[in-house]
Amino acid sequence: MAGNWKMNLNHVEAAGLVQKLAWTLADAKYDASKSAAAVIVPFTDLRTVQTLIEGDKLPLQFGAQDVSTHGSGAYTGEISADMLAKLNCDYVVVGHSERRDYHAETDEIINEKAKVVLAAGITPIICVGEKLDIRKAGEQVPFVLAQVDKVLAGLTAEQVAGSVIAYEPVWAIGTGEVATPEDAQEVCGAIRVRVAELLGQEAADKVRIQYGGSVKSSNVVDIMAQPDVDGALVGGASLDAEEFAKIVLFYA
Ligand code: PEP
Repeated sequence: MAGNWKMNLNHVEAAGLVQKLAWTLADAKYDASKSAAAVIVPFTDLRTVQTLIEGDKLPLQFGAQDVSTHGSGAYTGEISADMLAKLNCDYVVVGHSERRDYHAETDEIINEKAKVVLAAGITPIICVGEKLDIRKAGEQVPFVLAQVDKVLAGLTAEQVAGSVIAYEPVWAIGTGEVATPEDAQEVCGAIRVRVAELLGQEAADKVRIQYGGSVKSSNVVDIMAQPDVDGALVGGASLDAEEFAKIVLFYA
């Protein structure tokens, strides 16, 4: 269960939310082996979150929301995968629809980002998903599978087995519109089949597939009941410690 904070919370507020989340989970006897929980935070919060999680041994993982395709050098404003690895980031989200929409990221760029993240020893959370016009035309499965083919191009079976693919229908992100559990299963199941076709059944069984789009504690149980949904990428609801803790504890 990954909570994407997007461009919210400064490093002081980040400390408060991570601590409250950890205490809430601890009070509820959270079992990390049943549901791994990660916060995906702005770059400026990473050091604070890392210090808290590692120093206090909190049962949380953490990650960044984006990465540069470049290794180092004259790329003002960019952050490299090695910089994130040095901070012990567990995850980097690549290809979030907000990066695709507002920063013109293509599947090819996202594929490059996934490769640099994996090369740095970090797990990428690779996002795919259709917009409303595609969904209305009933083209969501072929559209998303075409994205999958491009974002996974050149990755090995072992790399994909250790990655996360997040299916996020764009029309459901931050809108309150949730895909039905059956909608989520239709596309997540098709993604798993495509990974099997491309890289073999073992990679398909091991890759973790998340659904994202207006996930809340009130709908997470039905979404997680779907056989090919292994987790959720949560935006707005992850900014409330108690609500995100309930999502993480969906199995309770
Ligand atoms: C997201 O940002 O990836 C997301 C799914 O947002 P929300 O949960 O707010 O729809």
